[in-house]
Amino acid sequence: MDRDTILVVDDSEIICSIIKGILETPNLHIAIAHSGEEGISKAKEIKPTLILLDIIMNGIDGYETCRILKEYEETKDIPVIFITGNNDSDSVLKGFEVGAADYVSKPFIPEELKARVKVHMQNIKNQRELQFLMKELKEMATTDYLTKLYNRRYFTEQLLDYVANNNNPISLIIFDIDNFKKVNDTYGHNAGDMVLLTVSQIFKLILREEDVISRWGGEEFMIYMPDTTAEKALDIANKLRNEVSKYTYHCDNASFHCTVTGGVIQYDREISPEKNITNVDQALYFGKSSGKNRCIYNYPIMV
Ligand SMILES: [Mg+2]
Repeated sequence: MDRDTILVVDDSEIICSIIKGILETPNLHIAIAHSGEEGISKAKEIKPTLILLDIIMNGIDGYETCRILKEYEETKDIPVIFITGNNDSDSVLKGFEVGAADYVSKPFIPEELKARVKVHMQNIKNQRELQFLMKELKEMATTDYLTKLYNRRYFTEQLLDYVANNNNPISLIIFDIDNFKKVNDTYGHNAGDMVLLTVSQIFKLILREEDVISRWGGEEFMIYMPDTTAEKALDIANKLRNEVSKYTYHCDNASFHCTVTGGVIQYDREISPEKNITNVDQALYFGKSSGKNRCIYNYPIMV
């Protein structure tokens, strides 16, 4: 939101023009409503940053208007400043009781009106920044910085949560990029990053919305597929493996291909999560030791 809007709700046209004259700037638009009813519908429509609300109006008064604004999800967080001619303590108190953030008294002292509005706009700006930072922090705590896939910790939490709350078959797939060290050594770490990003994008493109992918470690990816048997998961794993192997990477004047090896198991609720991870790891290990660029199902099942 680059331009803020303040909604002024006052039945007096003169008051509205005075406020507009005092507050409007190129970055701050002033919208006007002349009754409580009109104010509520405009607030829902334009979602202003702040509302200046007259108390005494025909139809529903300012208190009732404020009470209604605080009931709607889309308007309840918009701060309301009452415009009051009666700055006796009772009417001010009643304003705060129905949810007002502040009040200004008529007749206005322009500098005071500007200052109060400025304080509330600054609060809103700080809140928005805080929300943005919280979002960033959450993303940093749950995802891998390069691929933006979930990190191991968050993935594990999601998996355990799913296992605990559903009874359908879940499959686990682990992939490891073959000869990844050689890519880094031959073409440099940027090429290595490009491979990691491309592989994760191929996975995201082919997998379903409900499948959860993580960057498990350096060049390892772990996927869980809800409501999926191991047979189906093995099919999909081979499809992913195939797509990865077809992709040509270009780096300076060279071009190269990369393959992945995969392990697949159906999640076993009778054994611990750690044991399930060990089993899928072992399937991967067997794939690696038997020649790479292949997907191995559930080996060895009895350990
Ligand atoms: Mg009035």
